[in-house]
Amino acid sequence: MTKIARQDIQWLIASDLDGTLLDHFSYSHQPADATLEKLESSGVPVILNSSKTRDEMVALRGALNNRHPFIVENGSAIFIPKGYFPHKPELAREDAEYWILEPGARRADILAFLRQDSEAHGAPYLNFAAASTKDIVDATGLTRIEAKKANQRNYSEPLLWQGDESQKQAFVARANAAGFATLQGGRFLHVLGQTDKGRATQLLKKTYQQYTDREYRLIASGDGPNDLDMLKVADVAVIVRSPAHPPPSLPHHPSLIVTRETGPKGWAEAIKDIFATDATHS
Ligand SMILES: [Mg+2]
Repeated sequence: MTKIARQDIQWLIASDLDGTLLDHFSYSHQPADATLEKLESSGVPVILNSSKTRDEMVALRGALNNRHPFIVENGSAIFIPKGYFPHKPELAREDAEYWILEPGARRADILAFLRQDSEAHGAPYLNFAAASTKDIVDATGLTRIEAKKANQRNYSEPLLWQGDESQKQAFVARANAAGFATLQGGRFLHVLGQTDKGRATQLLKKTYQQYTDREYRLIASGDGPNDLDMLKVADVAVIVRSPAHPPPSLPHHPSLIVTRETGPKGWAEAIKDIFATDATHS
């Protein structure tokens, strides 16, 4: 391997939100604020990467004073502020504010698959797109606001499974064969495109790399099992300790940190350590 001078390395940090940059209980990001500011002033982009929707992410990104691209719905789409790069990435579409890369599937395509599949196999689930807010509230116990929010997705369809486990396994196999992935959340089975937080992060890193000769290196940070794909593709993986569950297991990663503290406090501690070590080697 060619030795790369430190000054030729550009770091990029991808980070989960809930339980990572945001406290598991209070949703506060305050313990991470000073570190986030320091990264911004030293030119290290922080990419927010979550299962949340575009609308949810836009609000949080504002609260975090973040101006960088962000990744929504478990790797389904990457939103790049227009003008962020010297020109539009080749495969991106655009709307008024963003260049949008879509490694995932549009919800309309997922719904078309569900319609077709249900004709042959039935639909032993509550399909959000077809349900009223009242139906969702009645079936899930969510509040009206939570139910509406859960239904405002652009790249995935939450299903409340009402059939048995073998029907579910058969459905998952048919969805995979049709080119979709599934993700079991706490409450819902999500149908989405064949993407994940890691694939989207790699695509965005490649996009950054197209515009410069400096070598990009990735730090990824998260607290849950759906962060593992992103942690696997990172040069440095940071597992943020959770007050609610044990750290997910990531065997054989060459550069793994599990934080001592939980949430944003643990995140800030790990990031500070990485850059402190980095400075002593330069
Ligand atoms: Mg999380």
